[in-house]
Amino acid sequence: MEDVLDRFLRYVKIDTQSEENGLHPSTGKQFVLARLLTEELKAMGADQVYLDEEFCYVYAVIPSNLPEGTAAPAVGFLAHMDTSPAVSGAEVKPRVVRFTGEDVDLGGDGKYILSMRDFPFMKSLIGEELVVTDGSTLLGADDKAGVAEIMAMAETLLTDPSLEHGEVCIAFTPDEEVGGGVKYFDLEHFGADFGYTVDGGFLGGMEYENFNAASASVTVTGRSTHTGAAKNTMRNAVLMAMEFQSMLPQAEAPMYTEGYEGFYHLDSISGDVEKCTMNYIIRDHDREKFQARKDRFTAIGKYLNEKYGGPLFETKVWDTYYNMKEIILPHMEIVDRVKEAMEDLEIDPVVTPIRGGTDGAMLSHMGLPCPNLCTGGCSCHSRYEFASVPHMRQIVKLLVKVLEKHVS
Ligand SMILES: [Zn+2]
Repeated sequence: MEDVLDRFLRYVKIDTQSEENGLHPSTGKQFVLARLLTEELKAMGADQVYLDEEFCYVYAVIPSNLPEGTAAPAVGFLAHMDTSPAVSGAEVKPRVVRFTGEDVDLGGDGKYILSMRDFPFMKSLIGEELVVTDGSTLLGADDKAGVAEIMAMAETLLTDPSLEHGEVCIAFTPDEEVGGGVKYFDLEHFGADFGYTVDGGFLGGMEYENFNAASASVTVTGRSTHTGAAKNTMRNAVLMAMEFQSMLPQAEAPMYTEGYEGFYHLDSISGDVEKCTMNYIIRDHDREKFQARKDRFTAIGKYLNEKYGGPLFETKVWDTYYNMKEIILPHMEIVDRVKEAMEDLEIDPVVTPIRGGTDGAMLSHMGLPCPNLCTGGCSCHSRYEFASVPHMRQIVKLLVKVLEKHVS
């Protein structure tokens, strides 16, 4: 049996960074890890191992070993192979350090310091082994910790037939970080009754609520004239765009909100006197409040068009994903089984609403209820990303335990 740490160290060294380019997969290099996982799954004796050569999904099955008279649903586990475009994922040089509570100088040159001052939750990790970066890249625990844990779970099940489980469906997906992760995912081929993405953070974390999400834009048409003769003739599109922004509730921005508080986020602005475009994202956990936010965005455009006497503000709003909660609620047993498994392993369950989306949110709305489980990785998308070795080992046990809990 290979330790989950060794798997993890092997996988993070493979560059699988995805890109915002509309292609599927967005980068060919994700196939390198996909091929390796395919080979490893075959070698450990998994069934129906299949690599989708077009869209870069890896599927596998571990058949049920239940005796007659016992039953279990087909449980899916998913993790994504790509890493965030935010920080380089090339030539990751993971290091294992024992965390003493002192600062960790990642590169040895004082430039990037992993410190409890910046990450106060690290206090609970004193004495543990952590995998850290050398400061030049992200680590890729998001989500190769999830990949390694699912692989280690698979090997555990295949090596120890005394562990009873129903059918286990495994999948590794590309491009989660650029929002295209499950666009071509074949739910029927996957075959699970429900799933878990293993793509969260701290040990004990579990999520089954996420934002409802929309993107929005407003394009303002102005009129340029000589500044010396501009009075009552110029329409400065940049100033009018600022007026639009000023009419949104100013405290409802990401930098002022947390928990279940939704927001409007002005993501970019570009333009000049003649034309100015602002791009937004709109988020709220609550479906009604989400709708109210979108309505307000459109209403401001309408109001300003009336004020200026013409269609100068063009607003567009389109939904991108929805809260998985409404899909999970009728199936709360899939959350409860995880809580029970955690309690058996003396892990404190911490259920929080995600302030973002996951592949699981989209899968849930495609018909596969799919909460998200912890990986033991922290501070993702960053040079300060790290993973706790004991947490990763606990999570492998947790996945096995979750399967046990589903047997009835
Ligand atoms: Zn992730």
